[in-house]
Amino acid sequence: MAGSPQSPSAAPRDPGAPGRPAHPGSTGASDLIADALAAVHEAFRDLDEGTVATYIPELATADRALFGVALAGVTGSIYTAGDADVPFTIQSLSKPFVFALALMDRGLAEVLAHVGAEPSGEGFSSIRLDPVTGRPPNPMVNAGAIVTTSLVHGATEEERFARILHVLGAFAGHPLEVDGRVYVSESETGDRNRAIAYLMHSTGALASDVEATLDTYFRQCSVLVTARDLAVMSATLANGGVNPVTGEHVVDEVVTEWVLSVMATSGMYDYAGEWLLRAGLPAKSGVSGGLVSVGVGQFGLGLFSPPLDARGNSVRSVAAAQEISRQFDLHLMHRPDRDVPTLYRSTRADRLRHLAHRTPAQILRLREVGSAISVRAVQGTVEFAAAETILRSVDDLPSPLPSGERWLILDLHRTSRVVTLGAQLLRGLVSRLQGQGVHVVVVDPFERRLLAGVDHEFTSFEHAQRWCEDRLLEAARAV
Ligand code: GLU
Repeated sequence: MAGSPQSPSAAPRDPGAPGRPAHPGSTGASDLIADALAAVHEAFRDLDEGTVATYIPELATADRALFGVALAGVTGSIYTAGDADVPFTIQSLSKPFVFALALMDRGLAEVLAHVGAEPSGEGFSSIRLDPVTGRPPNPMVNAGAIVTTSLVHGATEEERFARILHVLGAFAGHPLEVDGRVYVSESETGDRNRAIAYLMHSTGALASDVEATLDTYFRQCSVLVTARDLAVMSATLANGGVNPVTGEHVVDEVVTEWVLSVMATSGMYDYAGEWLLRAGLPAKSGVSGGLVSVGVGQFGLGLFSPPLDARGNSVRSVAAAQEISRQFDLHLMHRPDRDVPTLYRSTRADRLRHLAHRTPAQILRLREVGSAISVRAVQGTVEFAAAETILRSVDDLPSPLPSGERWLILDLHRTSRVVTLGAQLLRGLVSRLQGQGVHVVVVDPFERRLLAGVDHEFTSFEHAQRWCEDRLLEAARAV
């Protein structure tokens, strides 16, 4: 916690050289990433605007000069700049992670019965509930987070909090502790949260004991973390729920999708819309000056700097995270680049190099009729646009045989993944082609069986070519 040097946890946990993971004997190439982060840190270090939160008295003691930036890749590597190992209380940054735990415990339907998923467009301590259902708008504002906390399983309040503390630690990759001073400070002055909780109890949105739930919520907000911890926590969300440092499966992948969605629409208080417009990333900020932001599938960011802008977001953290998003081209609405073409080879057997052991007569014959065997070699992920490219590419398959018999070799060995719709479209393609007398064979050295129903699967292109050519030569002989 900033400003509480007496806390036993206030000393940096990792005394190693800041910013650089030690790799004995390495070329130091990964330092370049730490350097890029350091440059962003440097660019905003002197941005001395905003005010430190004071409504929780203990937070008012924070050092406004602190500024830490950390990035954890889904590979498990961590890079830091500035005060990335200074502990501070997690505050609202606990909300997405406790939301994840509630979703694991209760499932989406039950959680949504108690708390909505709509951006409130209001500040974190807004008291507005849905006029019909009495539900708080979303789990990222205090009202929703208090309800989320109450939904976490636990036979007793102690057990519920123990599970929350445990999951926060699992996200961070090591056990975490509570800052007792901040907890007491918030508990003594938390009348607005009490008002919200009692109001929700009266509408039925909060079914549990009000004081006990608030106590757990205040303790949850007082858990100590560092920017480095936050980076690992958000990298776990970026990595489908598996902590990239410890390898622990913390929450299910689908839960990370739900949590990230709500973070994207509601994570930044009443700045959520403009944040998404500018940074284009799921994020959450907290009144102690922390910010987590997620480059889905790539990395998690953890930032910390106590001075807040008028909407309660850390001034330096917002500026730095937006800059990182810009430099890394991370905006969610950015048109995905097709950095490799879907079809890297589109040819026919009469144009292929002939196989060993073919007789001169066979080679001659294959030059005449080889166009009956078409080849489509596919790479990358087959999602909608890629599937469409493949379908269009086989609209007209040539056949020199009077019988109309044809062959198609789908070479999938460079195909990384076929999404559900892609597989459905390609299966439809296979059965349509088969209905028209086209024999479809697949090449996949990894034997992943990506396409059910094909005539044959081969582990090498050569085998597929030989099989199709042998059949073609046979059919051509019959002519
Ligand atoms: N513990 C704080 C509260 O409930 C968290 C607020 C925040 O970080 O947005 O007021």
